[in-house]
Amino acid sequence: MTYDAIVIGAGHNGLAAAIELQKRGWSVAVVEAKSEAGGAVKTREVTLPGFRHDLAAMNLSMFAGSAFFAANKDALTAQGLGLVPAADCFASVFRDGTFLGVSTDLEKTAGRIAALSEKDAAAWRQMLAEFGSDAPHIFGLLGAPMPSWRSAKVAWKAWREKGTGWLYDIARLLLASPRDFLDSRFEHPKVKAMMAAWGLHLDFAPDVAGGALFPYLESMANQAFGMVIGKGGADTIIKAMTGLFASKGGTLLLDAPVEAITLSGDKASGVRLADGRVLEARRAVISNVHPKLVFGKLLPKDAGRAAYERKIEAFRAGPGTMMIHLALDGLPDWRAGAALKSFAYVHVAPDFEMMSRVYAQAMDGLLPSEPALVVGQPTALDSSRAPDGKHVLWVQVRVLPAQIRGDAGGEIAATDWDGAKEAYADRVLALLETYAPGLRAKILGRSVFSPLDLERENPNLIGGDNLSGSHHLDQNFLFRPVAGYSRYATPVKSLYCCGAATWPGAGTGAGSGFMLADMLGK
Ligand SMILES: Cc1cc2nc3c(=O)[nH]c(=O)nc-3n(C[C@H](O)[C@H](O)[C@H](O)COP(=O)(O)OP(=O)(O)OC[C@H]3O[C@@H](n4cnc5c(N)ncnc54)[C@H](O)[C@@H]3O)c2cc1C
Repeated sequence: MTYDAIVIGAGHNGLAAAIELQKRGWSVAVVEAKSEAGGAVKTREVTLPGFRHDLAAMNLSMFAGSAFFAANKDALTAQGLGLVPAADCFASVFRDGTFLGVSTDLEKTAGRIAALSEKDAAAWRQMLAEFGSDAPHIFGLLGAPMPSWRSAKVAWKAWREKGTGWLYDIARLLLASPRDFLDSRFEHPKVKAMMAAWGLHLDFAPDVAGGALFPYLESMANQAFGMVIGKGGADTIIKAMTGLFASKGGTLLLDAPVEAITLSGDKASGVRLADGRVLEARRAVISNVHPKLVFGKLLPKDAGRAAYERKIEAFRAGPGTMMIHLALDGLPDWRAGAALKSFAYVHVAPDFEMMSRVYAQAMDGLLPSEPALVVGQPTALDSSRAPDGKHVLWVQVRVLPAQIRGDAGGEIAATDWDGAKEAYADRVLALLETYAPGLRAKILGRSVFSPLDLERENPNLIGGDNLSGSHHLDQNFLFRPVAGYSRYATPVKSLYCCGAATWPGAGTGAGSGFMLADMLGK
């Protein structure tokens, strides 16, 4: 069969590219290795029947704020897409049995901060006021191809409106570490720790340069716009995208791993599937597969692109992550208070010292002694994900080694993830128990996905790296995935890469798929 474009991989970026090209009149086939579309956005009953767990992504705020969603909102809603807003968005719990959290009601958030520091409450309000006028420029930059006339225009417009001093401030924000930025704006350690925890969603410990932006954006965006999760599960976006694609005549092949990208001379001409089928592409082959796998496995080595291949080979994964899914009899009884039960995310990363230690241990190949956790409580917002009165808990263990060299806790002997994962999950639950006594007694079922299991589920998550590549400054912006190729082209003609390994990186914002299709469809 011949199509205008073949998309390899049905992650949300591949699907966004497919839908956008279809709208421009292209015939498109999407070929997916697994039996389900979605990649890192899937929902499944992995503990007990009736308990629906988001296997990876849970927070869909990036999708809800994306240009792709804005362009397709009605069509996706008609396909059944449902989003559930959180009024109590995220919080951190601390060792002394207290919490600090951000709710969409500014007075609630500011009141909690003021109880710690009046000065910080004023600084929070001030930052939010500035965010109102800064956000369009910052999101404009993050939503533009890198580099492009559009990104230059965004910077030009910002300079005209805000002046040179503002541009310097934004440049400093982009370069700063979480600690340096937060120290310059706030005084109370709990306020700073609450914001810095977002750095660990990416691979930014408190002292890593370039890590300030995400904690700033997430803190302010949650305050200004709130957080959303999927109705019934994060897979609501995938069901709606595949439904929309199919309704317009698109072809989605599941259980169809691509074994090779076929070439005609120096140009990508299609794909060969593992079962031997060959699909031809008239105009483009779009890979939603990690470029490291594309150039390491799907294409033969070629001396003509050796420089690119060397750089892709050297593209670093971020640290690994692990997911623990729990079916519960009731929500956790947080020591910090019943108010925490309504929060979408509870971070267990109480101070800078602990965040730095976790990161250093993981980067050194050690199982962290005190894991950093993101605890999602989706059924606090959406009871449809579990039987009546029951709950699911989404526990993401952040910053783990892909290859285990040892245990910083001195207890786990196994150095392979299949051998270590249950024992490490026990450590996580023992830690959670100190913040939410009685939690373990509420567990009806549990399912653990180690970094290795996550990679088995989705080969793009190399070593269980939830980012498809470190987001440190040397691998972001113009350098993602390789300088000179940040606009999705590759050294092979007609072959393009989108997905989390490309600009603007990880998350459910569908940015790379949307921008690539826009560029190709012109
Ligand atoms: C545990 C975890 C939690 C996360 N939490 C959040 C969150 O709460 N919010 C958020 O915004 N982001 C989150 N993320 C990040 C986000 O989910 C990902 O960055 C994003 O979904 C990646 O999308 P993608 O389009 O790049 O492709 P992927 O989702 O990686 O999909 C790629 C697809 O390609 C397929 N594929 C690979 N090789 C082949 C082949 N040879 N042939 C055919 N198909 C192939 C894969 O099977 C997969 O379906 C999380 C990620 C993880 C892992």
